[in-house]
Amino acid sequence: MKSRFCFLLLMCLLMVFSCTEEYELPKSSIEPGNKNLMVKSRGDYKLELVTSGEQYLMGEGGEPKMIYDKELEGDYYCIIGSIGGKPEYEFDENNGHISVSVPTFNYYDGVLLGTPGHIMECPIPGKWNLLVVASHKHSDGHYKAYESEVKQIVVNFPDVYQIQTELMGNMEYVWEETKLAANKDYAVEKGFWIYAVIHGSSLDIEAGSTETGDFCQSCLGNCMINMSEPEVVVPKELYGDAKYPIGYFHTHPPLTYCSSEVHRNVGLSNEDEDWGKNNGMPVLVYDYSSEIKNGHDINAPAQIYVSYGNELRRVPENWFDLEHYNY
Ligand SMILES: [Zn+2]
Repeated sequence: MKSRFCFLLLMCLLMVFSCTEEYELPKSSIEPGNKNLMVKSRGDYKLELVTSGEQYLMGEGGEPKMIYDKELEGDYYCIIGSIGGKPEYEFDENNGHISVSVPTFNYYDGVLLGTPGHIMECPIPGKWNLLVVASHKHSDGHYKAYESEVKQIVVNFPDVYQIQTELMGNMEYVWEETKLAANKDYAVEKGFWIYAVIHGSSLDIEAGSTETGDFCQSCLGNCMINMSEPEVVVPKELYGDAKYPIGYFHTHPPLTYCSSEVHRNVGLSNEDEDWGKNNGMPVLVYDYSSEIKNGHDINAPAQIYVSYGNELRRVPENWFDLEHYNY
């Protein structure tokens, strides 16, 4: 009976203390001069956040560790994080409630007791500032927030090698389409945006819809593709649905049907390299495996080329960067 009571009590405490994420705090709850809010302090007790590394791959994570004075043992805590600034939170000293709103996210929570025992995942790319806040009850019945120093981690987008593995089939298909679209009068380049998509708790690498460049004369070397504006969806909560452009793929056309004597180098053009560097975005190109000239076999060996030295999308430093791609 007694243990059941303890269990119920524990459940009640956990419900009272649970971190909530409020996207739009009601204005009335942040009245200036309300002494029940915004009680933040450091010092008094030691509280430190130790992460299992500083570089993470989007969708992966590690087990965090807290170092704290024994007075804080058993206290409820949250690990909160923000891109481009210090994480912000509201604290209610009457009930110890910690709440955050975008762009601060609640990454993790628990009770300071033993090891946390589960992984802190990092689904949103960017340079994150993390902070642990503990809610400690004092003898007068009021709660006080204790916070650690800010710890920085970097969450990276998937790189060109992951993209290549995931989307090989899509790229081969578009290469075949490019060959079929060529004839003695014109040719086209084809391509698509590459997206990292978070849906539920899983990360998928997806190809956007196929885009076709203007008709061009590959024999004159004037083929190019004007890519569309990519879709961007940023999450409203840590595991919220999200979609980020993480690279652009396109094909280069054959010279099979050229009657004049022409040849061209294969792989990324200077324009491709420049576009990738300027946009902080990897470029993947499907092209023949060695230099081609007029009349070559349209089915000669071909391959994927990737932008070396520009292998993954530039890491967002703030929320604006996350919502855009060419920053
Ligand atoms: Zn190109």
